[in-house]
Amino acid sequence: MIYLDYSATTPVSYDVLDSYNKVSKDFIGNPNSLHSLGSKAKDLINNATKQISELLNVLEQEIIYTSGATESNNMALIGAARAYKRYGNHIIVSKLEHPSIYKICEYLESVGFEISYVDCDKDGLIDFEDLKRKVKPETILVSICAVNSEMGIRQPLKMIRQIIKKENSNTIFHSDMTQGLGKIPLNVHDTDLASFSVHKVYGPKGIGLLYKSSKIRLEPLILGSSKEEGLRPGTPAVPLIAAASKAIRLNVHDLDRKETFIRKLNEKIVKELSQYEGVRINQTKYSIPHILNISLPKIRPETFIHAMEEYEIYIGTNTACSSGEVSSSVMAVYNDQERASTTIRISLSYLTTTEEINRFLSCFELVYKRLSALARD
Ligand code: PMP
Repeated sequence: MIYLDYSATTPVSYDVLDSYNKVSKDFIGNPNSLHSLGSKAKDLINNATKQISELLNVLEQEIIYTSGATESNNMALIGAARAYKRYGNHIIVSKLEHPSIYKICEYLESVGFEISYVDCDKDGLIDFEDLKRKVKPETILVSICAVNSEMGIRQPLKMIRQIIKKENSNTIFHSDMTQGLGKIPLNVHDTDLASFSVHKVYGPKGIGLLYKSSKIRLEPLILGSSKEEGLRPGTPAVPLIAAASKAIRLNVHDLDRKETFIRKLNEKIVKELSQYEGVRINQTKYSIPHILNISLPKIRPETFIHAMEEYEIYIGTNTACSSGEVSSSVMAVYNDQERASTTIRISLSYLTTTEEINRFLSCFELVYKRLSALARD
């Protein structure tokens, strides 16, 4: 099997799984219980949180555990919109966000918020002038992802923050950092709120984080007993939290070396695939090498993906494409309907090998030639 869909999710590392299993067996108490088994579980969470906070360079109380980045995005955007609505009803997002952000925006629009979409340039970089123009006195929140999930476009968050705060120092800046964690160095202090998901860094599914600056207030979306500052009540997921701390700890180092290796694999694929007539590489100078997006004209992405699967090669598409819709990111950058409706995403890891890429390239040739011939008939 050749797995090339690491941006969708990663296989859980055995070390992380070991921690999960040990904690499940040895820490049976509810951290909210008053007896010693409860305290033991509570201490473990505190320890995990301390480690994560040190790795992210934030305060322990600034970490909130969620079920994943979708929930973190909901907690951040809806929580901030509700908490700050008396200061304004305007929110800005980019055109390169994950679908969860757009779903949240649709909801917020339906309850009276005004959403603006900031443009990007031909390389996918946020249009700073457009952002500047769009930030108004009523703008309570801006959300721009650190790394776009479809084309890997990386945004200069520090500069974006400066622009936002210069126009309106009260505007909150949220960034969905899900595709950045474990791939590029991140500074959460470029933001006020940042979303993460642990299953993207070789951790288990079902746990994510929200960084919330201690200066920011959020309205809780879930009501219950007041743990996690009241934002995420209920019994904390002790084994998942221990696993999260381990996964993050194991995956935030050595990023340069891993990126150099992945870049070589990316360049090899781009070099080979560029030789096929019709294949378009949706990559700009701001794309990180871990995510490689291509368009295969006249071939339905799901047809291609299933054909590759016959060779036990697993690649991705954006969810919109599989229902015959366009990729919003490719559309935002290239403004080309055909290109945006035929995208495939190949996502790489430091675990990917040159042999895997060679095999991928030979199978690509077979499948692409077969499906292109069918498309021509
Ligand atoms: N944001 C981004 C940028 C993502 O890539 C993803 C996962 N595809 C999510 C949010 C959602 O993450 P989760 O699966 O943890 O809810």
